Amino acid sequence: MIALLRICGRYVLDFALPPRCAGCGCIVADVHSFCTECWTEVEFLGETGCVTCGLPLQATEAQTCGICLAKPPRIARTRAAVAYDDLSRSLAIRLKYGRKVAIARTMARYMAPLVAHSPEPILVPVPLHRSRLWQRGFNQSALVARELSRRLKVPAASLALCRSRRTPPLKGMSPLQRRKTVAGAFEVRNKAAVAGKTVILIDDVLTTGSTAEACARTLQRAGAARVELITWARVVRPSQLMR
Ligand SMILES: [Zn+2]
Ligand SMILES: [Zn+2]
Repeated sequence: MIALLRICGRYVLDFALPPRCAGCGCIVADVHSFCTECWTEVEFLGETGCVTCGLPLQATEAQTCGICLAKPPRIARTRAAVAYDDLSRSLAIRLKYGRKVAIARTMARYMAPLVAHSPEPILVPVPLHRSRLWQRGFNQSALVARELSRRLKVPAASLALCRSRRTPPLKGMSPLQRRKTVAGAFEVRNKAAVAGKTVILIDDVLTTGSTAEACARTLQRAGAARVELITWARVVRPSQLMR
């Protein structure tokens, strides 16, 4: 009850207080936005790069990178609003540990233009294991999916996909170790929600993509027609920029 009141209180505060920059907290004119200083610091990725994987293209590549041409990835389209850096990381952390609805709205604002007009879209957040969900009380990606759904009037199915096996943090693992760790960790709970649909996976931060890849495999087995991935931030390593 107290938790509920606190959440309601935050909603009220969100509306009553002047809008603040999502980066530094200074007062700004526009809700769910950045001040001019933070704005110049953010590296927006948007629709740049390969039309399939979103990674930077080489001078010889037109629209699709060589890697995607040689072997089309399981995820048909990957987009991130911004590059992962101190500022975008701080937003992701505040959302994850603070249940800040305002942060979810800011992220959704910049992610919304990246949702393409695909046939029969459904937004599905990358799920947490239920033990993690109990610990934290909410799934940060589901908060963002809900805000995107409201903004775009695209349906969201927050419980269609679940993480049936708890996985250790992937940080520090090689791509192969990551793939092995998350393989078979997901399960589709509601096949009717995803069968024949374009499933748009929603996540906060994209690093190597092994988690999203495992989700996509599970969704396709359950009949999803196409899987896309839209995240708030993406780790773009110098090695990827100079492939
Ligand atoms: Zn700022
Ligand atoms: Zn590509």
